[in-house]
Amino acid sequence: MIQVTCPTCTSQFSADEQYAGRVANCPNCGNPLTIPAVSTGAPGPPPTPSQAGAAATRARPRHGGVSVAGFICGISAFILSLFEAIPCIGLFVIPIALPTTWAGLVCSTVGLVHAYRGNRSKLFPIMGLVFSILAMVWAPLVFFLFLGGFSALGLAAGSGF
Ligand SMILES: [Zn+2]
Repeated sequence: MIQVTCPTCTSQFSADEQYAGRVANCPNCGNPLTIPAVSTGAPGPPPTPSQAGAAATRARPRHGGVSVAGFICGISAFILSLFEAIPCIGLFVIPIALPTTWAGLVCSTVGLVHAYRGNRSKLFPIMGLVFSILAMVWAPLVFFLFLGGFSALGLAAGSGF
């Protein structure tokens, strides 16, 4: 038997299990009510696919997050390093680009180690590592070319280099 509580008059009565899920009229007040599929005190509905998916995505980025962070830092560092080539702007970009490069390098390395251990996709950490290294190589190259250009023009002493 299923215990049913009327939502209108709150009177309780029991219904046969064959009426589970059906709409019946309350024997007390006559208003329609739905007889629940299971009796009161039963466990809640099973998790919906969206809840299950959320749980899965919550568990996944523990390793992947580092790789993605490394990839984003690597790309950012590379893009920032390109700005170092622009006179005047370059000097302001370097203090931002250097920590980003290091963050990209560290995160990508950690992500790569995790990817190898967890047998995950190594695309993001490898890309992050490549871009970080490119940024690292590119930055001093640009910096010295930049300095060299100034020296050649004889402006190095005047601009405080
Ligand atoms: Zn009722």
